[in-house]
Amino acid sequence: MSALGIYCADCGTECERVTGREAGAREPDRIDAQVWACPFCPDAWAPSAADGSAVGLPAGEETRNARALLRERQVERLISEALRHCPNGRPIAEERVASFLAHELHLPTDEAAIDRLNIEWCRSAWLALKGASYADVVRHAQTYRPRKAA
Ligand SMILES: [Zn+2]
Repeated sequence: MSALGIYCADCGTECERVTGREAGAREPDRIDAQVWACPFCPDAWAPSAADGSAVGLPAGEETRNARALLRERQVERLISEALRHCPNGRPIAEERVASFLAHELHLPTDEAAIDRLNIEWCRSAWLALKGASYADVVRHAQTYRPRKAA
């Protein structure tokens, strides 16, 4: 993921690794942890993964809230629809919803990860998923099945 570059989703500035306290994180378990933070936007950060890369792209509170809402209200709604038919199907449902969303946004799947979206992309993603049902997601998965190596 670090190959994609770690920049602020809100302003595009390259981010640096600091402690959660320096980044303005208020979550007690983040204060002493390393995070990736924007040098300009107040309270714009993303957690640091075990390998030192960022989990998603750093963003301020408004964007982080928009991502969380998108995940709870739209992504989880579609996934719970899938789980009604297939209770153990979470990994495949998550993968299918992510690929459906990337296609709707015309973004590569890596860049359409919810943790990487800025506020405008969150709005577009909300509109793209709002009217969709899991049946649409499955139809997309069947139409755009990645070609398997023979
Ligand atoms: Zn920024």
